[in-house]
Amino acid sequence: MSYHVNTHCVQTGYTPKNGEPRVLPIVQSTTYKYESSDQMGRLFDLEEDGYFYSRLQNPTSDAVARKICALEGGHAAMLTSSGQAANFLALFNIVNAGDHVVSSSTIYGGTFNLLDVTMRKMGIDVTFVDPDCSEEELNAAFKPNTKAVFGETLSNPTLVVLDIEKFAKCAHEHGVPLVVDNTFATPINCRPMEFGADIVTHSTTKYMEGHASTVGGAVVDSGNFDWLAHADKFPGLTQPDESYHGLNYAKDRGKDAYILKATAQMMRDLGMTPAPISSFLLNLGLESLALRVERHCANALAVAQALEADERIGWVNYPGLTSSKYHALAQKYMPKGTCGVISFGIKGGRAAATRFMDSLKLAAIVTHVADARTCVLHPASTTHRQMTDEQLAACGVGPDLIRLSVGIEYIDDILADIRQALDVACE
Ligand SMILES: *Cc1c(COP(=O)(O)O)cnc(C)c1O
Repeated sequence: MSYHVNTHCVQTGYTPKNGEPRVLPIVQSTTYKYESSDQMGRLFDLEEDGYFYSRLQNPTSDAVARKICALEGGHAAMLTSSGQAANFLALFNIVNAGDHVVSSSTIYGGTFNLLDVTMRKMGIDVTFVDPDCSEEELNAAFKPNTKAVFGETLSNPTLVVLDIEKFAKCAHEHGVPLVVDNTFATPINCRPMEFGADIVTHSTTKYMEGHASTVGGAVVDSGNFDWLAHADKFPGLTQPDESYHGLNYAKDRGKDAYILKATAQMMRDLGMTPAPISSFLLNLGLESLALRVERHCANALAVAQALEADERIGWVNYPGLTSSKYHALAQKYMPKGTCGVISFGIKGGRAAATRFMDSLKLAAIVTHVADARTCVLHPASTTHRQMTDEQLAACGVGPDLIRLSVGIEYIDDILADIRQALDVACE
C-alpha cells in the first residue's frame, strides 16, 4: 500500500501477526537462537537473512528503521546511536583515507567538527562551500578524489535552505552521491530524495523523537545511486569484501548494497548501535511526528511574524517569513512549512538579549532544539561565550542572536511569555 507520510508515521514498520502484541515490542536481547551451527554459519556469511547479534541488527530497531525509510521514500535504512554516528557512517561507508568530500559550510557545528577535524585526522579531506554559491563555484570545489557531497536541508542553527537540486546535479555530474541531513525539515515537510538526494540522514534526537528523551540517528538510502557505473570511485562497494569471503555488495546485492555494507561492515566494526529501548521511544515519538511538526511550524510562523512587527526587535531570521531571502527556496522544497526554530536579535545587543532570556518564564534556557517544549539559547553567553563581539560576527553569530525553538504549547501563552520578557528587557 502506498500511504501518505502522516499515515506512515502511525502505522508503518511493525505489523503484528495474529495474536502478537499490538505495540512494537522491545526485543531486549543481544543474541538469537538457532537450531544448527550450519544455519548460523549461513547468517554470518550473509547468505541468509536473520538476526544473530544486536550490535549489527535488532528487530525493534529494524522496525523503526523501516518506518523512517517509508517516511523518506527510501529503499533501505538503518538506525544509529546518534545523529553524529549517522552522518559519520553515511560518509565513511563510501569515503576512505585519501578521499575528499564537498560540504555546505552552513551545517550543524558537530558535523562541521566531524568533517573539519576528526575526519581530516583519518586522512579524509573536505572543502566547504557557501550553499548559495553558483553552479560554477560548486563545480570548482570538486577534485578527482571527491567521493561525496554533503549538506543540510535546513541548516542548524542558521536556517539556510539548501538548493537540493543544484547540489544533486553537481554531485551527479561528478559521479558521486549527495548526502542530505534532513533533521530540521523532517520528511513531513521535505523529502530530499524527491529532489535528487541519494542518501538522507537524521539526528532523530530532534523532531523525530520529539520529547528530548533519547539521542539517536538514522541513515536512509534511496537505492538510486549506480555504484557500478562509478566502480573505480567506490571500491568498498564494487570490489569483493575480504571480511565476507569476497562478497561484492553492488554486484551481488544491487540496491541493498549501501545499507548492507553499512550494517554488516561498519556497524560490525564500529558498533554505533542504538539500544532497543531507544528505538522504542523513537517510535513513540514518530507516531505523532506529523501532528507535532504541523503545530511547531504554525506556532513558529506566528512568533516570527509577531517579532517582525515589534519595533524593539532588530531582525528576525525564519525562512517561513516572506521577508526571508530563503522564502522562495523554502516554498519550493518545503511548501507545508519549514521548522519550529527561529533566530532573532533584540535592539540593545548582548545586554538586552541576556535580560530577555533571564525574564522568560515558559521558555526554558537549554542546550537543545526541536522538541515539544519551547526553549531558547543565547550563543554569545553560552556555547560561544569565550568569543569577543568581533569573533562572533565573523562566524555569523551576532552578540544579540537568540535562538528560539518554538514548541507545541498553546500559541497565546508562547506569545505572552515573549512579550513580557521583551517588556523587561527593553524597559
Ligand atoms: C543535533 C544535530 C546533529 C547531531 O545529532 P546528535 O543526535 O546530537 O548526535 C546532526 N545534524 C543536525 C542537523 C542536528 O541538528
